[in-house]
Amino acid sequence: MITIKSEYEIELMKKAGAIVGNTHHYLEQFIKPGITTLELNNLARDYIIKSGATPSFENLYGFPGTICISVNDEVVHGIPGNRKLKDGDIVKLDIGACYKGYHGDSAWSYPVGNVDDKVKYLLEHTQKALFEGLKEVKPGNRIGDIGAAIEEYATKHNLGVVKELVGHGIGTEVHQDPDVPNYGKRGTGPLLKEGMTIAVEPMLNYGTADIYQLDDDWTIVTADYEPSAHFEHTIVVTKDGYMILTKR
Ligand code: MG
Ligand code: MG
Repeated sequence: MITIKSEYEIELMKKAGAIVGNTHHYLEQFIKPGITTLELNNLARDYIIKSGATPSFENLYGFPGTICISVNDEVVHGIPGNRKLKDGDIVKLDIGACYKGYHGDSAWSYPVGNVDDKVKYLLEHTQKALFEGLKEVKPGNRIGDIGAAIEEYATKHNLGVVKELVGHGIGTEVHQDPDVPNYGKRGTGPLLKEGMTIAVEPMLNYGTADIYQLDDDWTIVTADYEPSAHFEHTIVVTKDGYMILTKR
């Protein structure tokens, strides 16, 4: 069921979203060669809790970390651990926080040290694909309009669109209806209405769109080991467009 949030609920989601955005901003200074993904995870955990929220992904479906940290060819759902970031890596932090029962969810991809042109290209165009999708968000448009815009932009820039994983409605649970795919046909899917809150999150690959899951039952990687990028904002549909709730 797709829920429409009241003004009061949207205020709480603004707070949850701000905590997520601020956590990203806080972590950015620590993204350097030599730091482990577990150290980043623990910094995120402390920051979210100090902000008066709880980490949304801890134990979500049994996830063993606080935030998802995926490096290079890892697309999403990377488990924080002893891996040290290296110069030239691309690291994706996917952060969720729950404030008074309402969630915010935002993933961002960061270069580590000096990255090559391939990574720069992937980062630039995946971030732009997110905003191409968001441009379609307004009452009267449909979910398919968002996916179509992302897919068209990605295809034009020769990037592989991950189709097995999708954006989602969000509110009292991290994942609610509707699914928000990063592909689709214009004019199809659920109608966007004022007060709907959704997470839009293109996952684009430098090479093939094909992915598989590692033996840890979590980490999703690209089939050709080429890098992948992920940018996500939680937004609310407004009277004439949208407002980003997870701004950094
Ligand atoms: Mg996320
Ligand atoms: Mg999400």
